[in-house]
Amino acid sequence: MITVPEAFSTSYKEARAKFLQAAAAAGLKLQSYPHPLKGAEGEDLALDVAYQGPENAEALLLASSGCHGIEGYCGSGVQVFALADAEWHARVAERGIGVLYVHGLNPHGFSHKRRVTNENVDLNRNFQDFNAPLPPNPGYAELHDLLLPDYWPPSEAHEAKVHAYVAEHGRPTYQANVTTGQHTHPDGLFFGGTAPTWSNLTVRQVMRDWVRGRKRLAWIDFHTGLGPSGHGERIHATPMPDDASLLRARAWWGGNGETPITSIYDGSSTSAAIRGMMPAAALEECPDTETTAIAMEYGTVPVLNVLDALRGDHWAERERMQGRHVDAALQAQITQACSDAFYTQTDLWKGQILSQGRQSMFQAADGLAGVL
Ligand SMILES: [Zn+2]
Repeated sequence: MITVPEAFSTSYKEARAKFLQAAAAAGLKLQSYPHPLKGAEGEDLALDVAYQGPENAEALLLASSGCHGIEGYCGSGVQVFALADAEWHARVAERGIGVLYVHGLNPHGFSHKRRVTNENVDLNRNFQDFNAPLPPNPGYAELHDLLLPDYWPPSEAHEAKVHAYVAEHGRPTYQANVTTGQHTHPDGLFFGGTAPTWSNLTVRQVMRDWVRGRKRLAWIDFHTGLGPSGHGERIHATPMPDDASLLRARAWWGGNGETPITSIYDGSSTSAAIRGMMPAAALEECPDTETTAIAMEYGTVPVLNVLDALRGDHWAERERMQGRHVDAALQAQITQACSDAFYTQTDLWKGQILSQGRQSMFQAADGLAGVL
């Protein structure tokens, strides 16, 4: 067992080292999928996986971190804690399941403290059929210039227009138009891309290498940035409404109503109905495996603050893409705002993350083993 602060890190390099060390100390099998670019400190980047349990376990729990880069500081903490948790290891053995810890789904964003991939793409909007017409998002197109002004921080007059939009359409519509996903503005927010990203292709490879052939998969993907501070919302995560997997998710993770499962399709979630979600990787690469997936979404700061932090981040990235210099002090402010939006660095918050994350993993182990 390690302490709460010991499980968490302040850089990708530190988080990766802790993950690899904890997995090695637990005697788990490791595999790394190297990323072609370097990290913020010049370090190597990779998607790393550690496997626990019988090699051919029919039931597999996949616990993943860093789909949204900077959100990985949260999920990595849950993984590192679990890897050193004797009670958890005993439960895994007792239930006869396999556990795949997937660390740094988007290692580039994790290291550079950005939510998106090196392609400026939101990985959880990137699982689309790129041979078919991509879904339009006219609401985003209308907002793009408001979200990304010429100068940052924006003028009061500019922000008054944003506030007027929110007042006129309501906060939920504003949030939905910004966050649902869009495929028309590569420099914009929540861009789903026009091709599969490195992380998309690599997650699919992980599915073929580690999940294909199993009977049942429970997938918990750790996220931050929506909901009340420290509260973990279990969001049923499938690319399309799926009643059978929703019922399984409720049975496994719902805690008889204590830890309710929400859905992006019926308005019960803090998340808008997003498109291009990552669990498609399991459904498409492992069609014979029964997949039940949730996003464990932990709250940090109010959603409008989160979106403002992302506006600053994308503004700075667009400046760099267009060859302009971003002042170091301003960049530091922008990065700090992103850090505040996705990683609350207090022991209280981290303790809340670990206890609920751990609970969700024990629930999954019972659900997979049919012990309910
Ligand atoms: Zn996220």
